[in-house]
Order: sequence, then C-alpha cells, then structure tokens
Amino acid sequence: MHSFEKLLLENKAWAAEKVMDDPAFFTRLAHTQTPEFLWIGCSDSRVPANEVTGTQPGEIFVHRNIANMVVKDDLNLLSVLEYAVMHLKVKHIIVCGHYGCGGVKAAMTDKSFGILDHWLSNIKTVYNRHRDEIDEIDDPEERANLLAEYNVRQQVINISETIPVRKAWDQEQRPHIHGWIYGLNDGILKRVYDIKPPVPEPHYVIA
Ligand SMILES: [Zn+2]
Repeated sequence: MHSFEKLLLENKAWAAEKVMDDPAFFTRLAHTQTPEFLWIGCSDSRVPANEVTGTQPGEIFVHRNIANMVVKDDLNLLSVLEYAVMHLKVKHIIVCGHYGCGGVKAAMTDKSFGILDHWLSNIKTVYNRHRDEIDEIDDPEERANLLAEYNVRQQVINISETIPVRKAWDQEQRPHIHGWIYGLNDGILKRVYDIKPPVPEPHYVIA
C-alpha cells in the first residue's frame, strides 16, 4: 500500500467512528460552521491546530503559513481574516508560533532560500528590532526561541492594526487577540502576549 492510500483508509475509519459517536455529526457540520476562534499558525506539520487544542472540526477557522506571519499586503491572510471577523464573527484570534521554528531559524542566517527569502524578510525585520538582546544569548536554539516569541508578539500587533479588526472594534467588544507559543518538546501552549478590544468611549448625553 502506498503511503497516500493509508490516509484514505484512515479517513474512512475516522468518518465511521465520528458517525458512531454522533450520528448527526456530519449533517450538522455540512449546514453551518460557527467557530469561535481564528488560528493563525505555522505550516510546520508538528503544530496542527485541532490536535494541540483538543478541538473538533467546526471549532477553529485556520490559516497557516511559514512562521505564522501577518503580512499586511498578504491577500490570502487578509481574506481569511476578513471572513473570520466580519462574517463568522470569531471572538478570539490566536497567533500561534512555536519553539524550534525552521522559518525563524532561516531568517537568522544570511543564506539564500530562493523565493522564501522574500517571506523571511518580514521575520528579519523583527530580528533586527531585537537583535541586541537576542544576539547576547550563546545557545543558538535559545536565540531562535526568543525571536519566535518576539515574532508572535509582533504578529499580534500587526493583526490589531488591520482594517477588519479595527472595524469590529468600532462596533463590538471582539475579537480578543492572543499570542501563544507551542513547545515541540512538551506539547504545551504558552501565552506570550495579548491585545483585548478597547473599552468603548462612554456616550455622554448633554442636557
Ligand atoms: Zn515554524
């Protein structure tokens, strides 16, 4: 059996198990999705959004790219963000980075990775901003891990400055933006930084 055939076989078993547990599972999900969360994570195969958070299909709207970046002219990300915030009305946006991130490590070198260089330049900007502190660390793994944390923080800030989020904040007390980091060694998610929706200005009635 080819490796890809195993995936199809596993899928049949998974679907059958879901129906056994909950006969209406797929019919319900086929009609609507009302996820409370938007996840912006790294494409790394070791950080799957649903598995690490114990969530089911229908619970998290997901966008993943190399090193969980929020690049302000990335139409793919902006489309996902607008749909999630304006139409699905997600309550929380989670930007999730991870320790041991290959994209972050690559951005710390002067090597060329072809097309990827353009993408990595966004992480290099974060690196340059915190370079004095990061380069003081001797261990290269720890250096990359600190940059991964600063990168999550910067992407949370970038999300907070986008038009869909600003529009939502004008009208409602959502979404809350969270920056988390995942440990490949222990499977634990850690909170790094977050931005709550601003408290609305009180409306004074002038009598
Ligand atoms: Zn990564």
